[in-house]
Amino acid sequence: MKNVPVLIVGAGPIGLALAGDLGEHGVSSLLIERTDGAITQAKMDMVGIRTMEYCRRWGIVPWVHAAGYNRDYPQDCAWVTSLTGHELGREPFAPVRDEARPPQSPEKRERCPQNFFDPVLRRFAERSGHAELRYRTQLISLEEREGAVLARVANVDTGEEETIECRYLVGTDGGASTVRKSVGIPMIGPDALTYTTNVIFRCDGLEALHDKKPAYRYIFIGKQGTWATLVAINGRDQWRFSLIGDASKRQYTEPELREAIVQAVGIPFDFEILSVLPWVRRQLVAERYSTRRVFIAGDAAHLTSPTGGFGMNTGIQDAVNLSWKLAATLQGWGGEHLLATYDHEQRPIGVRNVTESTGNLKRMLAPRVKEPPAELFDDSEAGDRARKAFGDAYTDAMKREWFSIGIHLGYVYEGSPIVVPDGTSCPEDTVSTYTQTARPGSRAPHAWLGEGQSTLDLFGKTFVLLRFGAQAPSGQGLIEAAGRAGVPLTMHLIENDEAARLYETALVLVRPDGQVCWRGNVEPAEASEIIDVVRGAHAAVGGEREAA
Ligand SMILES: Cc1cc2nc3c(=O)[nH]c(=O)nc-3n(C[C@H](O)[C@H](O)[C@H](O)COP(=O)(O)OP(=O)(O)OC[C@H]3O[C@@H](n4cnc5c(N)ncnc54)[C@H](O)[C@@H]3O)c2cc1C
Repeated sequence: MKNVPVLIVGAGPIGLALAGDLGEHGVSSLLIERTDGAITQAKMDMVGIRTMEYCRRWGIVPWVHAAGYNRDYPQDCAWVTSLTGHELGREPFAPVRDEARPPQSPEKRERCPQNFFDPVLRRFAERSGHAELRYRTQLISLEEREGAVLARVANVDTGEEETIECRYLVGTDGGASTVRKSVGIPMIGPDALTYTTNVIFRCDGLEALHDKKPAYRYIFIGKQGTWATLVAINGRDQWRFSLIGDASKRQYTEPELREAIVQAVGIPFDFEILSVLPWVRRQLVAERYSTRRVFIAGDAAHLTSPTGGFGMNTGIQDAVNLSWKLAATLQGWGGEHLLATYDHEQRPIGVRNVTESTGNLKRMLAPRVKEPPAELFDDSEAGDRARKAFGDAYTDAMKREWFSIGIHLGYVYEGSPIVVPDGTSCPEDTVSTYTQTARPGSRAPHAWLGEGQSTLDLFGKTFVLLRFGAQAPSGQGLIEAAGRAGVPLTMHLIENDEAARLYETALVLVRPDGQVCWRGNVEPAEASEIIDVVRGAHAAVGGEREAA
C-alpha cells in the first residue's frame, strides 16, 4: 500500500498551492486530480494582492506576469444599456502592467485567469520536488482511523483501484467535495443565490463593433435591471459572457445564449462559442473545516458569489495557513493542538469574505429591486439626465466591490489560541482602506528595507523574530526557547525607521504564514510559554473541535 504524509485531493488552484507550499516546508505530498488539469472554462481571473504576496514568497511572480493575460489591456469596469447603446458610468483602471502598487505592499493584484494561473501553480508544485502529481486519478472514498487515513482512489481511464494510506488528507476538491461529504461536514448558508450561465466566446476585434472605450468588464442594465456581464477573459480575443439569472433554475439552448450575447452587444456579429458553463452562485461555509486528520480548503470549505474575486484568494489563504501547521506537526515541533487552530482561524475569514461577496452581488443587482427609470433608455435630454443620475449613483455604490484591499490584507486571527494578544483593541474591519498593523493576529506589515527588499521577503519557511535596532532586547530567551522546542526560528536585526514605526515594538514574532503572533518591548520573562502558545502546545482550541 502506498503511504504518504499528506494526500491532497483536487488539483485546482488550492490543491496546487498547498502541494507547493508544503514542498517549501520540505513536506512530501501526493496530489490526485480526476481530470487531466486542462481548464476549458476559466472561473477565477483576479489574483488578489495577498495571493501575489505569497507568489512573491514562492519566487513565481514573473511566471504570473508571463502566464498569458494581455497585461496591457485596460481594466475599466463600465455599465451600459448595450455596447452599442448608452454608457451609464465607468470606473477607470489602468492596464495591469501600469497599475501602481499600493504603499502597503511590495505587490499588486493581477489579472490571471485560471487557465493561465493553474499551470503556474502546477509548475510551482512540481518545482518543489516534494509533490507527486497524479492526474486522471479520482478519490472514491476515505476512512479515517486513529493514526491514519485510508483513501480509495481509482484511475479514471482504466478503472483500476488502489488504497493509499496517509497521515493527513486535505480535500481541495471543489464545491461538490467528496472529502467533505465523506466526513459528514455540512455546508451552512442560504439556498442558491442565482443560477448563472457562463459562455466563453471568441471574437477578434469586438472593440471595433461599438463606440465604448475598452473595458475589462461591462455590466448590462436593461429595463429588467442588471441582467448580464461581459469580461475580457484573455485581454485579446476571448470574452466571458455571464447570463446572471436568478434563484430559479433555467437551462439555455445555444441559440438562446447567442441571442443574449447579440442583445448585449446590440448588433448582430460573428463569434465562436468555445464553452458553456451553467453554475450555481452560492453563499455557503462548511460547518467545520476539519476532523482530526481530514481537512478541507478552498471551495470545498466555502462557496461564494464571484462578485469581488474572493473565492480562490480566500482558498489560497486556507492553504498557506494549513501548510505550515501540517509541516510542524509532521516534523514534530507542532503542538498537539496546532492543527485544530486551522478551523478556528480560517473559518471566520471564510464567513467574512462570502458575506462581503453577497453584499457586492446585491449592489450589482440593485437595479432589479428598484427598476431603472424608463427614460434611461430614451435618446432625449431627459434620458441624458436620467442616465447621469442613475450612472453616478451606481458608480458610487459599486466602488466597494472594486476597491477591497481591506478584505484581502486586513483579515485578523482575532482570539486565536496560538496568537498572544498584546492588549490593544482590534482595528475596524474596513473594505476599501487598509492600515498596516503589527498587532498580533494581523498580517505582518510591508516596509522596504533596501532596493527591492521587503520585510515580507523575510517570512515563509520559519518563525521569524524581528529585532528593531541594536538597542532592542536580544530576544535570546525566545531563540533558546524555540531551540528547546525544536521550532525553526530565524532572527533578523532591522535598522530601518519606517519598519520600526510600522511594527511599533522592539521585538516582533512572525509565523511562517506571515502573520504576527507575539510582540513586545522587553525580553519576555515567559519565553517558553510564548513559544508553546504559538506552536499550539499550550491549550485546546475547544472541547468540541478536539473531540471531532
Ligand atoms: C465566474 C466565476 C468567477 C470567479 N472569479 C474569481 C476571481 O476573480 N478571484 C477569485 O479568487 N475567485 C474567483 N472565483 C472563484 C474561484 O474560481 C474558486 O474559488 C476556485 O476555483 C476554487 O479553487 P479550488 O481549488 O478550491 O476548487 P476547484 O477550482 O473547483 O478545483 C477542484 C478540483 O478538484 C477536482 N476534484 C473534484 N473531485 C475530485 C475527486 N473525487 N478526486 C480527484 N479530484 C477531484 C476537480 O476536478 C477540480 O480540478 C470565481 C468563480 C466563478 C464561478
